[in-house]
Amino acid sequence: MGMCKPSGGITKIYGPYGKNNKDIEGCPPNSRTDYYDKETEKLLQQRWYDNDGKAIWDRDWDHNDSTHTHPFPHDHFWEWTKNNIHPPRPEYKGPNDEKINKHYC
Ligand SMILES: [Zn+2]
Repeated sequence: MGMCKPSGGITKIYGPYGKNNKDIEGCPPNSRTDYYDKETEKLLQQRWYDNDGKAIWDRDWDHNDSTHTHPFPHDHFWEWTKNNIHPPRPEYKGPNDEKINKHYC
């Protein structure tokens, strides 16, 4: 289960470093956004959207990391069932401590 080569397409977005892509709903179903630093054009975050166009999965390639030391890239998943206004975004950990889920690509 996952979303490889999103059928809804991939949208490039440019913005400031240290911000998330704020679109978490209303996106093309089964799509992905790639968020780039507008200054350096470095990839900062990829986000996958489900059948309903809601954020379902994030891959962080770079962000401020002052309080923790986890490596990049790492994944977060969206827990929509717990809070539909702004769901929590726990960090993904695979069965062998993987930081990314290769089924999202
Ligand atoms: Zn992160």
